[in-house]
Amino acid sequence: MQVFEQVESEVRSYCRGWPTVFTTARGSTITDESGKSYIDFFAGAGTLNYGHNHPALKKALLDYLAEDNVIHSLDMYSDAKRKFLETFKEVILEPRDLDYKVQFPGPAGNNAVEAALKLARKYTGSETIISFTNGFHGMTLGALAVTGNSMKRGGAGVPLNHGTTMPFDNYMDGQTPDFLWLRSLLEDPGSGLDKPAAVIVETVQGEGGINVASSEWLRGLQDVCHEHDMLFIVDDIQMGCGRTGPFFSFERAGIKPDIVTLSKSLSGLGLPFAVTLMREHLDVWDPGEHNGTFRGYAPAFVTATAALDLFWRDDQFTKAVEIKAEWLDGELRKIVEAHPELGLSTRGQGLARGLVFEEPELAGQTCRECFENGLLMETSGAEDEVVKFLPPLNTSYEEFEQGVAILRDAVKTIAKEHA
Ligand SMILES: *Cc1c(COP(=O)(O)O)cnc(C)c1O
Repeated sequence: MQVFEQVESEVRSYCRGWPTVFTTARGSTITDESGKSYIDFFAGAGTLNYGHNHPALKKALLDYLAEDNVIHSLDMYSDAKRKFLETFKEVILEPRDLDYKVQFPGPAGNNAVEAALKLARKYTGSETIISFTNGFHGMTLGALAVTGNSMKRGGAGVPLNHGTTMPFDNYMDGQTPDFLWLRSLLEDPGSGLDKPAAVIVETVQGEGGINVASSEWLRGLQDVCHEHDMLFIVDDIQMGCGRTGPFFSFERAGIKPDIVTLSKSLSGLGLPFAVTLMREHLDVWDPGEHNGTFRGYAPAFVTATAALDLFWRDDQFTKAVEIKAEWLDGELRKIVEAHPELGLSTRGQGLARGLVFEEPELAGQTCRECFENGLLMETSGAEDEVVKFLPPLNTSYEEFEQGVAILRDAVKTIAKEHA
């Protein structure tokens, strides 16, 4: 492992919690070079919703590569792009009555967020974006300016401007009515808040600690946006593609955001791919105004199209996620109840779930113990106090039970050490 420490920058991070060299992976399992297998309940931070190396998605890619099809073509028209757009329209947009246009902003989630913020500013002519406590939207400067975490913000090295943070749902523990502060600032000409272009929000905050916005709160936020001519941006990069059940995480609230960002699991196989979706009348871009070399990445079009075909033509997949989610929630509740001394709690939506520790460092210790015993889990939250579950959505019950058993034992060990 010396080469990593000698050559790779100190900025590397996930590898520090899982100090081994991984070689192969299939489904919900990843294996290291010593042959030790781990159940992967992190799934690339939600990039592998359909598991590692899904055979049908991999086959689509291999077939495409075998025939000398175009791999790189900037944003030129390609057959792969046509098939993706046709399938996305037919399988995702039309059945949901969504009139979005699709922008390919570059391959990473932050590209989709930057495009969304630029577009909102261009369309409205305003600069300020409202974001929410503990939100995470990426590491480029525009996205970082609407991100909460102080350590990550500190890395910017320049002032992060043109954003204002507001309390996310339940941030004030129900002490104040929803949106009291936001509405007060918007309505008071003396508040000092410049007229915002948009709000950007996650329906469930993944990096921020699996904080779930209620459907009522999301509808309320949409109302505030409509009343005050602000665009409503949902960042669905981590919670989209079925993580919470439906394809879009906002479907449960019956809302229709103006702009939506997707990435992470969109390609299905873990290839870099992102889109920014915008309601038709918002498409005020000039040609080339937001550009990038790696947009139209054809291999990702191919695997994304295959994933839409395979999982999203009916609601079976969503239903299966919801049933597994209920089961997992029940298992986590049992762990919470078994350890009153740790002051645990659990929360989540769909298969994005968190086990919350009263003492933050015990969450990290639990993840380390899990790693030793063959389970990958990460912490999240402002103080890394939440053990975060993002298992592949098609994890079998057998693997779920194995993973939960490792977690259960890890919490028991931590509780004993801590007593
Ligand atoms: C991961 C993530 C991003 C950033 O995506 P990158 O590909 O890391 O740039 C933005 N928003 C949310 C909600 C994310 O989870």
